[in-house]
Amino acid sequence: MTDLHRRNPCRLPTLLLLSLLTVVGLSMLWEFHLEASVMHWLNLPYDGDFEDAERWRFVLTASGFSMLSLILPTVVLKRLVVNTQSSYRRLQIIQAQTETLAKYDALSGLINRRVFMDVLHKQLDESQPVAILLIDLDHFKAINDQHGHSAGDSVLVEIAHRLQGIAAIHAGTAARLGGDEFCLMFQGHREESELSEIAELTVRWLSEPVLEATLCGRLGATIGISRSWMDAREASSLLHCADTAMYRGKNTGRSTFNFYDNDYERLMRAQADLDLALKHAVDREEIVPFFQPIVTLPSQQVVGFEVLARWLKPDGSTGMPGDFIPILERLGLIPAMTRSLVRQACRAASRWDDHLNLSLNVSATMITDELFPDHLFDQLKQENFPFDRFEVEITEEALVGNLEAAQRNLSKLHGHGISVALDDFGIGYSGLYHLTRLSIDKIKIDRSFFEAGNIDHLPMVEAILGMARSLNMKVTAEGIEDFHQPYLPKWLAENGCHYAQGYLYGYPQAGSTIATAVHGPSIACIAAQN
Ligand code: C2E
Ligand code: CA
Ligand code: CA
Repeated sequence: MTDLHRRNPCRLPTLLLLSLLTVVGLSMLWEFHLEASVMHWLNLPYDGDFEDAERWRFVLTASGFSMLSLILPTVVLKRLVVNTQSSYRRLQIIQAQTETLAKYDALSGLINRRVFMDVLHKQLDESQPVAILLIDLDHFKAINDQHGHSAGDSVLVEIAHRLQGIAAIHAGTAARLGGDEFCLMFQGHREESELSEIAELTVRWLSEPVLEATLCGRLGATIGISRSWMDAREASSLLHCADTAMYRGKNTGRSTFNFYDNDYERLMRAQADLDLALKHAVDREEIVPFFQPIVTLPSQQVVGFEVLARWLKPDGSTGMPGDFIPILERLGLIPAMTRSLVRQACRAASRWDDHLNLSLNVSATMITDELFPDHLFDQLKQENFPFDRFEVEITEEALVGNLEAAQRNLSKLHGHGISVALDDFGIGYSGLYHLTRLSIDKIKIDRSFFEAGNIDHLPMVEAILGMARSLNMKVTAEGIEDFHQPYLPKWLAENGCHYAQGYLYGYPQAGSTIATAVHGPSIACIAAQN
């Protein structure tokens, strides 16, 4: 029975019967008692000499008509009541469904994010200890992409089921926070070892194949753990801590768990700040070319400069390429930085003697980008810089990733008169294969061959020089320093090395300094400045 029925015990048939009895009673009362008194009281003529049969006829007629006049409204009323009752019942069902939807995730049946946060807030407001394990599925997107959303949904339902199992074993609560993100909440203080055990179990259970093993076998989970008594006392902060710990796992191999670590977060924040600062640095041309002279041997006259990137930071310090180039690689900003360097370097070089060359370091991502040569040609044309005074330097590591693409690009550059130098030669692959198959004009012998006390490397240098001679390639010796004077430059020249580069001839320096130096009387000026 519905509440409506319970609250209205006078049902319609009863009401009808009561009306009938009332009408019959009233008409009897009127006919047999009241009529004469009322007529008399009103002082109206009244013939009271009626047969009882006549009086009963009146009672029956009055009652009959009254009943007949009640039937239609009763039927209508009955209908109305029935309709109202069923609408009310529907309303109650909808209300119950809405309440369920507001609390529980429709797909998994676990409590949803809102309720989870409410519970967490309540727990923390009451200063009760709570630990949360934030769980993000690994490779879930692949399941959705490869097998469709209904397979994805089945996986989520199964995962929810497993998490509910774990929550039941360890007296916790499982929630789905959205997408493939779940959470286990444990109220009360738990030891680190116990939480580790739960996390390990969770990673293991969630890595078990879901559905048919072949379909979704490689699912896993990465977990971040935070504890109110150690990490944060506010709900969203606690969740943020778990999130940070979870991302740490995502960055370091997945299918693992991590406790929140304040130092790691500080490191991440510093990294994010550095990323942003570097994005601005590229946009605002804070990354500028420095130029290091390359001299010809034996005369030791400057023939050109290698462009070396420097980050002139807003705080006045200078960033070195070893520190920021890998970050720019990760951010995909190397092409933008290189374009900016080429533009700035060409503009600086336009003020120098017109026999001076420019050498540009080109990273792996760029040398294999098939648009790179055309973009470079366009830029050099725009800056009015002759192709035959431009050189690109690439390392062998850059070549091996995508040899065919690199080969095409190098041939194209070479075909347009831009020369190609193989950088850091001798420490990487140093295979003859690259030297003979690719359009390489020059080898730059790595500076480690000329480090102090490494005199025993000279036979190797001699061999490289011999090989270059037979392949008809030019050679630059890198890392020639003051202490090599006077022996090494002389030795290199005698053994057929064409060029030298190093602190002996000049440090990498800003374009403005170079302009004065190369217009001066001799190379000695550059060396003297250092
Ligand atoms: P690299 O191409 O081998 O550049 C030569 C490095 O050796 C430069 O370091 C230079 O300052 C240093 N050097 C030059 N002469 C001497 C010397 O006599 N002794 C010693 N010990 N070192 C010497 P830097 O400028 O720190 O550059 C490091 C590396 O960063 C470069 O090595 C290059 O691989 C990369 N790099 C620099 N600028 C760029 C750039 O614009 N684009 C790309 N993709 N990479 C760059
Ligand atoms: Ca170089
Ligand atoms: Ca080098």
